[in-house]
Amino acid sequence: MAVTTVPPSGPTSTPPPRTEILKSIAPATGEVIGEVPVCSAADVQAAVARARVASVSWGALSYAEREEELVRWRRALAEAADELADLISRENGKPPLDGMVEVFMALSHLDHAAHRAAKALRPEKVSTGLLANFRATVTYHPLGVVGVIGPWNYPIFTPMGSIAYALAAGNAVVFKPSELTPLVGVKLVELAQRSLSIPNVLQVVTGAGPTGAALCKAGVDKLAFTGSTATGKRVMAACSETLTPVLMELGGKDPMIVAEDADVDAAAEAAVFGALTNTGQACISIERIYVAESIYDRFVDKVVAEVGKVKVGGDDGHLGAMTSPQQVGIVKDHLEDAVRRGARALTGGAEAISGNFIQPTVLVDVTDDMKVMKDETFGPVIPIIKVRSTDEAVRRANESSFGLGSAVFGKHARAIADRIRAGMTSVNSVMAFSAITALPFGGVGESGFGRIHGDHGIREFTRTKATAEQIFNLPMNMMSFKTPKGTNERIRGMIKQLFGTGAVARAKDLLGKLR
Ligand code: NAD
Repeated sequence: MAVTTVPPSGPTSTPPPRTEILKSIAPATGEVIGEVPVCSAADVQAAVARARVASVSWGALSYAEREEELVRWRRALAEAADELADLISRENGKPPLDGMVEVFMALSHLDHAAHRAAKALRPEKVSTGLLANFRATVTYHPLGVVGVIGPWNYPIFTPMGSIAYALAAGNAVVFKPSELTPLVGVKLVELAQRSLSIPNVLQVVTGAGPTGAALCKAGVDKLAFTGSTATGKRVMAACSETLTPVLMELGGKDPMIVAEDADVDAAAEAAVFGALTNTGQACISIERIYVAESIYDRFVDKVVAEVGKVKVGGDDGHLGAMTSPQQVGIVKDHLEDAVRRGARALTGGAEAISGNFIQPTVLVDVTDDMKVMKDETFGPVIPIIKVRSTDEAVRRANESSFGLGSAVFGKHARAIADRIRAGMTSVNSVMAFSAITALPFGGVGESGFGRIHGDHGIREFTRTKATAEQIFNLPMNMMSFKTPKGTNERIRGMIKQLFGTGAVARAKDLLGKLR
């Protein structure tokens, strides 16, 4: 953890600079559960400088050695699972079970990244084309230092999607957790520092927006940002000043399509989970449901019945507290806007909000001009829309500036899935793509770009290098001014042969068609 250094005090010394403190507050009780320092720009720069040193030794380890190190960290986290789950639950407001599930998911990714890196980053030999006397290779190298800025909704799972993959690829990481969940971030890094043999391979800098902004300007080799689209744009603007590459995991407005041949009960149960889990505070929450008119009434009835079984609050509740009063305010605003414009709440509603606890709302008669249909709600709200055809459902699902996750239910759901403009789709399920560690995770449009998880996620944190190696000489050397007489004619002939209507070109074209 970055520690703010306080100069020695004494009669002649200037007064020590006051370290600002960030308090962590449990959303379910309002209790202060801990505090951390607010790291200044100088603290952040110092952390990046330490990481730069660490990255040299870490990047020089073999894949097998890094795997061993990361497995040690994974074991330490697994041993601390109870403590971590409890801390996540207290700091974020989610039920203890959800905290434990989050630890499980985070460790699945750490495990995958640790074991997979060597395969994902193995050098690739590629065709040399005409340069038959060459060997051509693509290799992947660590970037150096990666900055990771995380959100509060899944305070360990979400940042792990970047941290584990960046570390496995051979980078050192400086992590800035959300100001709403700093203790989880500190714990994660504390266990890494105890487990990894090289100091400062993973560090944490705590604080709010200004600390994150300082990380963008601290000279990292890549900035992996997970958070809202609005902040993502600010991060990207800041990083553009130094041409620091960015990975953007931003907001979503995930659609779900329920075709007329879908299993209505299964789809409704999945919809309720997909929209409500984590109190709807998931970037891949189901936020709009398009249902074929022939099954619409049955689907709505089943959703309402399932929502009736959802318990809010308490250790055994399905839904915990919302993580912040600000988020409660956004949900309330969306509900009031929808009802003002003619929507009906079949359950819950703005009146059913009590402090940080929100009863889930099923909304019908929603229209596309409502905030709840356009903006990310990030709360326990289920807007259901009747559609006349699959084509209409796909068109309306795609009419969003976001494009993160999505879900389709029906006998032909797989084919419909390919028509959805989104980074990820679950077929006859919800959110499953995020639990499959080998699948790339990320969005399009205002949901961001770049991919975490899977092989794509490991390569995301590398620099791709092309190497062309001459292995023997040929009389005609294209990389030389010593061109024999007649070279021009020979090249002209080759152009015709290879790319015009020559026999070789025609054979290649035919082979291409047969492939
Ligand atoms: P946020 O944008 O408010 O904050 C995210 C992080 O950015 C925090 O750590 C914050 O301190 C930091 N930050 C704020 N201002 C900054 C600045 N100017 N420069 C650098 N960093 C700055 O987001 P949030 O409210 O913490 O998280 C919720 C959002 O995250 C939702 O929109 C959700 O959809 C999104 N999210 C996306 C994914 C994904 O993988 N696509 C995953 C989880 C959450």
